[in-house]
Amino acid sequence: MENFFEDFRDNLLEQYDTCPAYKYLCDNQGFDPNIHLNKEEDMESVPFIATTLFKKSAQMFTSLLRVPLETIDKWTVSSSTSGDPSIVGRRKCDLMQMERFNELNRGIFQPGSSQECVFYPEPEVMKSYKSEMIYGKRTESYMGNLLDSFHFNEDAIFFVKQKGNELMVDLGEFKRVIKTNDGLSHHLSLRGSTPLIYNAVNELKDEMEPVKLGANVLVHTGGGGWDGKKGTITMDAAIQRKDFVECVSQFLGIPEENFIDSYSFTENSFPITGHYSPKYKDYLFHIPKWGQVIIRDIKTLKPLHNPGDIGFIQMLNAYGTSTFAGASIIVDDIGQIVSMDECPDCKEKCMTIKIIGRVKGAEAKGCGATLNVEGEKQ
Ligand SMILES: [Zn+2]
Repeated sequence: MENFFEDFRDNLLEQYDTCPAYKYLCDNQGFDPNIHLNKEEDMESVPFIATTLFKKSAQMFTSLLRVPLETIDKWTVSSSTSGDPSIVGRRKCDLMQMERFNELNRGIFQPGSSQECVFYPEPEVMKSYKSEMIYGKRTESYMGNLLDSFHFNEDAIFFVKQKGNELMVDLGEFKRVIKTNDGLSHHLSLRGSTPLIYNAVNELKDEMEPVKLGANVLVHTGGGGWDGKKGTITMDAAIQRKDFVECVSQFLGIPEENFIDSYSFTENSFPITGHYSPKYKDYLFHIPKWGQVIIRDIKTLKPLHNPGDIGFIQMLNAYGTSTFAGASIIVDDIGQIVSMDECPDCKEKCMTIKIIGRVKGAEAKGCGATLNVEGEKQ
C-alpha cells in the first residue's frame, strides 16, 4: 500500500483479465486499461459497475466474481429493507484487508482503549443472522464482517440481542451503563447503528434526566441508517445528522466534536470516516490515501471537481477486491464535495466530502435510468 495509482492499476488490470463481465463492459466503452490507464488523471475514465448489478434480482453476482465460484469463502450480503440484498463473493484475503483498514484508522477509532458499548449484536450473531446457503457457500451480513474485523475488547457490551428471529435492543442495559458512568469522564466508546442509538436516547429521554458522560467518550456510528431504514428497522423519517448529534450530545453530555461516522457499502472495501463539525453542522468525511472517491453528476455521470458539487459516489479500490469486480464501483448514494485537497475544519490534507444520502422518489427512478439498471423497489 505504497502508491495508490500503481496498486489501483494492478488491481484493475487483473479485474479486466479475470472477470469477463467487466471486460465486456470495458470493451463496450472502448476502454482497455492496458492502453488507457497510464496516469492518475486516467482514473476518471475507468468504467464503473453500479452496486445495483450486485443485487440478488440482477442475477449477476456470480458473473462479477474474479475467481472460480468454488474458491470463494462466503457471500457477504447487505442488509436490505426490500428483500433484495447485494451479494458479494469474498475470500479470507479480502476480509483480512478490511482488518488492515481498521488498523490504519486506529487513531480515529480508538479500538481497545476503552469500555466499548455497541449498538449492534455480537459479530458472530450478526454474521449468522438470517444466513443461508447460495451455491454451496454461506451468506454473512456485511455488517457482521465489518464488526468481526473490528476486534472489540473482551468486555465490550453489545446492546442488541437476538431473541428468536428478532434482534432486540436491551434498553435496560444501556440505561444501566450510562447511569453507572454519569459524571465520571470515563473513556468509553459508544459505537453502532445510528437509528438504534437515536431511538434508545429518545426513549430514555422520557424516563430519566440527562447524564454527563464527559469529554472522553467517542460516539462512532456506522452502517448507514440515516435515511431511517436499516434492515428491519423503519423510522418515520430520515435522521438529520445535526439533530442526531445535538440530541445525543445533550442527553449523554458528550461534546459534539467527539462524534464520528463511518461510511461504506457491501460492494466496497475501504470505509471512509467523517468527524462531526459543529461549525458545518455535518460530518466531514476524509478520503484516505488508500482509496479514491469520484463524485459524478447525477444526470450526466461526468466527474465533478468543485466544492459544493453534488453527485453519485464512486469508489476506486486498489485493495481488498481480489475476489469480485469491486475495483471501480458507483453507488446510488449522493455525496457533496467540500474540498478536493483539504478539510476546511481540521485542515488535514485530503479530499473531504459530505454524505447527503439516497435519492428518493421520481429522482431515484431517473437515477435508475442513468445507471441503466433497475433500482431497488421501495
Ligand atoms: Zn477534518
